[in-house]
Amino acid sequence: MGNDNGLLLVLSGPSGVGKGTVCSALRQRMKDIVYSVSATTRAPRAGEVNGVNYFFKTRQEFEQMIEQDELLEWAEYVGNYYGTPRRFVEETLASGRDVILEIEVQGAMQVKQKFPQGVFLFLAPPDLTELRNRIVGRGTETEESVRKRLEVAKAEIELMNQYDYVVVNDEIELACKRIEAIITAEHLRKERQIHKFRQWLKEE
Ligand code: 5GP
Repeated sequence: MGNDNGLLLVLSGPSGVGKGTVCSALRQRMKDIVYSVSATTRAPRAGEVNGVNYFFKTRQEFEQMIEQDELLEWAEYVGNYYGTPRRFVEETLASGRDVILEIEVQGAMQVKQKFPQGVFLFLAPPDLTELRNRIVGRGTETEESVRKRLEVAKAEIELMNQYDYVVVNDEIELACKRIEAIITAEHLRKERQIHKFRQWLKEE
């Protein structure tokens, strides 16, 4: 992967922590970041649009995508498949643009294996009570689904240590600012800059 490739940003964290909200706010603020649309077998929620929020697939279609190696990563989460279409991500990065994946932790760990140079951001809740309120407050989940999502969330928080950055989502504006600061700093890493200077020196 060349130095002029875009950054692969992976934003993950427990269900209900507000990844979706933070991601949309980031997209508003940072127009250059490209958002990867995932495939899923879960049913669309009210207002969700195929190809915008997700590519909605049957289990059979999804399993075919797995077999044909069309997914950069995939995971089963609370009874449904979720995965990132590989080609779109690879082509966008190669064109020099930054891509953000908003995915859960199992998938993020697969991406880390394949793209260790990715930037892994863990969005953390201010506390667990707050997280429960958010999952319940969304009002789209059954009681059983809320319970399962909370269980998963606790296991997910244990994985924080595998990430490069922890961003507490106490306030959306603040969380966005923290992420913007990380993206700016990552672009300024010497590994991404030094080749330009070496090139100049050679040209002298
Ligand atoms: P929801 O059903 O609430 O939209 O998403 C459930 C979980 O799946 C969230 O944690 C979300 O970030 C995650 N997710 C969404 N797309 C993907 C994906 O492509 N891959 C993986 N591994 N997780 C995803």
